[in-house]
Amino acid sequence: MPKFLGHFFISVIHILYKEKGNFMKIRQLIVSPFLTNCYVLIDGIEAAVIDPGGETQKIINEVDKNGAILKYIILTHFHLDHTLSAQEIKKEKVAKIFIHGDEKNFLKFEPDEFLTEKGEIKIGKTYLEIIHTPGHTKGSICLLGKGFIFTGDTLFKDGFGRTDLLGGSPADLELSLLKLKKIFKTGMKIYPGHGDVFTYQK
Ligand SMILES: [Zn+2]
Ligand SMILES: [Zn+2]
Repeated sequence: MPKFLGHFFISVIHILYKEKGNFMKIRQLIVSPFLTNCYVLIDGIEAAVIDPGGETQKIINEVDKNGAILKYIILTHFHLDHTLSAQEIKKEKVAKIFIHGDEKNFLKFEPDEFLTEKGEIKIGKTYLEIIHTPGHTKGSICLLGKGFIFTGDTLFKDGFGRTDLLGGSPADLELSLLKLKKIFKTGMKIYPGHGDVFTYQK
């Protein structure tokens, strides 16, 4: 099967699977000069924004276009290219800002809740499990759904996040990537913080 067909096939399966019980979609918006992937997850009438790194209005428009109520703004880590619009969106939409507790000393504003590894976030009928993946920053997280995962700057299609910035650790990143490898399954859709969305193949 040609590569693009394989990808398409997996995407269709994913949507069908989700449609059994409800309707969930993920929209990718590329924002800021850093070309950050901001994602809007919509399930029924509820929505969550992941990594709003700029272009506030574009993100809000995407939520409104889908007639959804924004419940959460989830930040995979504290870097500005993932957090810049968080407070502006919160002001307009009264949503709650979530980030992992280990980012506390690096973040320039107060979130509504500090996440921990054991936590789970519910949007409509979709559950996102919090996977703590330090390395790029101390409190970097991935968000695991059924058949998909948001990886922030921990993992990209062609590599992984840098570890030479504040709170970074190459040893931690190595362990985090091993942790992810155990979670990944063939066909899982991966939504990284920069670059192409891709499907995991063993
Ligand atoms: Zn980053
Ligand atoms: Zn980034």
